[in-house]
Amino acid sequence: MEKYDIAIVGGGPAGLSAAYSAARDGARVILFEKDASIAHNIRTSGVTWISNIERLGITSSYYNPIKNYSFTSPSNEAIIRSSRAESCVLDIRKVYQHLAFEAAEAGAKIMVRSQVFDIVRDRDDKISGLKIRTPEGILSIEASLIIDASGFSSVVAKRLGVVNSWNTYGVGAEYECYCDKVDLETWHLMVGSTYSNAGYAWVFPVSKNRIRVGVGIGKPYSNEDPAAKLHSIMEKRPRPLDRMGRIQPVEYHFGFIPNEGIRRPSVYDHLLLVGDSAGQANPLVLEGIRYAIEFGRLAGVVGARAISDGSNKESLRDYEIAWRNKVGSKINSALRVQSRWMGLSDDEWDKEIEILRDLSAEEFLDFIKAEFTTKTVIRLAINHPKLAARNLFNMVLKR
Ligand SMILES: Cc1cc2nc3c(=O)[nH]c(=O)nc-3n(C[C@H](O)[C@H](O)[C@H](O)COP(=O)(O)OP(=O)(O)OC[C@H]3O[C@@H](n4cnc5c(N)ncnc54)[C@H](O)[C@@H]3O)c2cc1C
Repeated sequence: MEKYDIAIVGGGPAGLSAAYSAARDGARVILFEKDASIAHNIRTSGVTWISNIERLGITSSYYNPIKNYSFTSPSNEAIIRSSRAESCVLDIRKVYQHLAFEAAEAGAKIMVRSQVFDIVRDRDDKISGLKIRTPEGILSIEASLIIDASGFSSVVAKRLGVVNSWNTYGVGAEYECYCDKVDLETWHLMVGSTYSNAGYAWVFPVSKNRIRVGVGIGKPYSNEDPAAKLHSIMEKRPRPLDRMGRIQPVEYHFGFIPNEGIRRPSVYDHLLLVGDSAGQANPLVLEGIRYAIEFGRLAGVVGARAISDGSNKESLRDYEIAWRNKVGSKINSALRVQSRWMGLSDDEWDKEIEILRDLSAEEFLDFIKAEFTTKTVIRLAINHPKLAARNLFNMVLKR
């Protein structure tokens, strides 16, 4: 059986980033991706924040910058404008393939069309390897450390019996489309029952004449099928789609994202979980790409160090401590706001939009990014003394 230091399951942003940093730090790394190529099936809309993503080496040629944030509810509309682009829409294929090339250049072996379907256990019943279905047949490998970066499905951790399926999650369906009239600087979020009973719909401009139109639905809050809802929106063309001229879908995207906060441990004997597999996502707008890259790199660094020190599970815990310290309380605060948003009626959404209307772009972005520091929240409460706003911010402050 071939032996590696680190075997990574999943060629999404988390797995590719872990492969890069672990190989760069001297570990012998192999990564398995079940699809035919990296970013073959897109499961994301690709909105993120310029300052965060540039710090991770994703420069302006990989995204479309966004300055304006538009909200549409059943009978209301608000737009928050900024002079500076702080958010962006990623060219997902280009970004993920860039991460793959970085990992390959650092020395990681990447196998596409290779689906991990089982684990190998040692005499103590601990995980010691993987079984993989490849076009050439079944492959078994051994590794000192496995990184489960398989996304929502957490295939390794489930197979090992250490985690269950997520109970609370988002499911989204999206079309990438040709569009006649694209305002490249503005993204749109649409809320209320026309768009999604528990969640939201979106229009994100990708490039000239190219948009992503999608619907996200929170489970178990609603039984709606996002694909059916998306179809209905494309047919009926409610605001803001009615102003965009001809819209022609060219590619379909579909995916799941965990939305339970960070309850499950991410470190086990010989196993780390990273990205969606560990629940590393901001539940307010269901975004996790920047966390997947940042914490993927962290997992690779800590994993490679643990291998070279010959150390054990305890040294892998540095990974868990570091990422939880960075985002734990933010994700939990965001979860409280999100559960309030899940229950809003159309009338309540029309009022909620009024709260957002008063925010500056900077305040809005802190809020939606789940950057809830005590200072920013107090500043928001002072600047926006409306009762509804107070309630929202008090909820965030409650730890
Ligand atoms: C509809 C939708 C919209 C989203 N929009 C945004 C957004 O706008 N901005 C944002 O930041 N985040 C967004 N997200 C979340 C974001 O996509 C995830 O947080 C991010 O992709 C997590 O990266 P990952 O590497 O952990 O998992 P993934 O990107 O899911 O990658 C996992 C990889 O593992 C592979 N895999 C799975 N099982 C196996 C197996 N058995 N063997 C081998 N390979 C396997 C998969 O094929 C996949 O390539 C969205 C999610 C959804 C569902």
